[in-house]
Amino acid sequence: MRVLVVNAGSSTLKYALVGPGGDAEASGVVERIGDGARVTHRAGGGEWTVAGDAADHAGAMERMSEAFAAHGPDLDAAPPDVVGHRVVHGGTRFAGPAVIDDDVVRAIEELVPLAPLHNPPALAAIAATLARFPGAPQVAVFDTSFHLTLPAAAVTYAVPGSWRRAGARRHGAHGISHEDCAARAARMLGDPPGARVVVLHLGNGASACAVRDGASVETSMGLTPLEGLVMGTRPGDLDPGVVPYVRRVLGLDEAAAEDALWHGSGLKGLAGESDFRALSARAEAGDGDATAALDVVVHRLVKYVGAYAAVLGGLDALVFTGGIGEHSAALRARVVGALGLLGLALDDAANAGEGDRVVSSAASLAAVLVLEAREERAIARACLAALG
Ligand code: ADP
Repeated sequence: MRVLVVNAGSSTLKYALVGPGGDAEASGVVERIGDGARVTHRAGGGEWTVAGDAADHAGAMERMSEAFAAHGPDLDAAPPDVVGHRVVHGGTRFAGPAVIDDDVVRAIEELVPLAPLHNPPALAAIAATLARFPGAPQVAVFDTSFHLTLPAAAVTYAVPGSWRRAGARRHGAHGISHEDCAARAARMLGDPPGARVVVLHLGNGASACAVRDGASVETSMGLTPLEGLVMGTRPGDLDPGVVPYVRRVLGLDEAAAEDALWHGSGLKGLAGESDFRALSARAEAGDGDATAALDVVVHRLVKYVGAYAAVLGGLDALVFTGGIGEHSAALRARVVGALGLLGLALDDAANAGEGDRVVSSAASLAAVLVLEAREERAIARACLAALG
C-alpha cells in the first residue's frame, strides 16, 4: 500500500508518499502559501526547490501535483492506494482516524471556529484529493485524538457552567507528533513500564505534552491552538484580561484583536518576525529585541517542563522535536541548563550532532532526546490501521 499523506498547516503544505515499508518515496513542502510560495520536492535521492505561486491551499495542492509530475513518482501512472490528511481539530467527536465521507467533512467544517487557521486548509486539501484520486479511500487523522485521555482536571477551564456547556474546554493539538515521539522515546529507553515522557514539539506552532505509559495526561494547547508555549505568531499563555484591556485602551474591534492573537503575537509580536532561525541569528549579532524574545521562549519552556515533571511525578525522558526542537542546539542547551533541579545534564557533543539521538550525559537523571518529527509516517500508519 502506498499512502499519500497531506499535512496542511496554516501557511505550509507538507506531503509525503509513504511506501509499503513505511519510508517516504517522495516528500515535499509548499511554504509561504499566499506570500510568494516556494515548493521543495524530494524524490529518488534528488531535491528541487522552485518558486511557485500559490495564493491558497488549493493552489498549493496544484503545485504539489506539478512537482510529482515533473520529478516523480508519476501519480497518474500509479495513484496512491490511500490518501491521509492531518486535521488539527477533531474536537471530542474523533477519538481516532476517520474514513472521510460527507459527514466527516461536515464535522471538520463545524470545528473551524476552534482552529480557524488549520481546519480550512485541511478541508481545501481534502477537496483537492477527493477530486484528483476519486478511487482511493481518504482518511482524516486528528491532532486532538491523542489528548482525549486527558483527565477531567486537565481539560476543565474554571469558567461558568454556561461557558463549559457551550464547549469551552481544553483539547490540545500536535497529538500525532506527541504520540509518535513518546512511543519512539520509550522504545529507545527499552520500554520502561509506566514511562514518564515530556515531549516539546517546537515548530511554527509549539506545544508540550506530558505522557505517562503512552497516554497523554497534560498538554499545553487548549480549546484552540493559542494556549501554552510562545509560538511563531501566537502568544501562548495570556491573562484573559489582556484582551478586553487592550481592546478598551487601543480601541480594537474583536476581529482585530483575534487577528493579533493568531498572526501578530509570539516571536513576531516580540521581535517582528516569526522565524526562529532568523531570530537566533539576530540575537547572536546582539539584537536586543531578538534576545529578549528568546528569553521569553526559554522561560516559558522551563516553566512547562518543570510543571509537567510535577504532573507526572517524575521524569524519564524529555524529547525535543519540530523544526526548532530538532535544530537549535543552543535552545536545548538553555532549557536543559535551567532544569538542573530535575537532574538533567547534556552531553555537549551529542547535543551538537544530527539525527535521532540521546543528547543527555551519563550523569543526567532523565534522558534528553532529539527526535525528528515524523508526522507523515505516523499518519500513514494510522490510515492503514483505520482501514484495517
Ligand atoms: P511547522 O510548525 O510549520 O511544521 P517546523 O517544524 O518546520 O514548523 O519548524 C519551523 C521552525 O523551525 C522555524 O521557526 C524555523 O526557523 C525553525 N528552524 C528550522 N531550522 C532551524 C535551525 N537550523 N535552527 C533553528 N531553528 C530552525
